[in-house]
Amino acid sequence: MRALIVEDEVRLAQTLADLLELNGYTCDICHDGEAGLDNALSGIYDVVVLDVMLPKKDGFSVVQELRQEGSSVPVLMLTARSELGDRVEGLDRGADYYLTKPFEPRELLACLRALTRRQGEVQQGDALEFADLTLDRAAFTLSCAGRSVRLSRKEFDMMELLMRSGSMVLTKETLLLKIWGYESEAEDNNVEVYISFLRKKLSHLRSRVRIRTIRMVGYCLEQEGEETP
Ligand code: CA
Repeated sequence: MRALIVEDEVRLAQTLADLLELNGYTCDICHDGEAGLDNALSGIYDVVVLDVMLPKKDGFSVVQELRQEGSSVPVLMLTARSELGDRVEGLDRGADYYLTKPFEPRELLACLRALTRRQGEVQQGDALEFADLTLDRAAFTLSCAGRSVRLSRKEFDMMELLMRSGSMVLTKETLLLKIWGYESEAEDNNVEVYISFLRKKLSHLRSRVRIRTIRMVGYCLEQEGEETP
């Protein structure tokens, strides 16, 4: 899960990032509305945490422009102001949820979990399922029919993206951006290395699921015995 934090109070932004990273998110931080909007439009984030009072462009304008550009990334708005008018304005302009500062970390995490839950996804508590596989977000494990392996952070992120996409092809570029981010020096090679780690783990689990390579494009999941077009 990749989160973008748009918050001009540097210490609060860092506290939020620390909290989210402890809970399994990868975070990027922007300190003003313009940079926040640019980054949010990249399409690589699963959720945006957006302050209202921001330099250059306020949070209301950011969320409004984001929606005008066709982005449907979930947005959780934060503000120190608690007036009802603000909440209504934020929601009217396209925010998904509104939280008033100061907030309880547990409340923030619960909101983010709710916002990032996708439609159609089979979800049981902290687990994501695909075919015979279960990915446990709390324990960082992948299991199949009673066998289970622990995943490293990057393996976990990659497996989660693959399971969410299922038979839809994920490009190497998307994997690179979502897992390593823009700032990173990582290359296609890094993706290949982690795909090979995951393949070993799938084979160890004796899962029917395979990671299929689509040459020059990327990867998708398939189940053994499925027709490959
Ligand atoms: Ca602010």
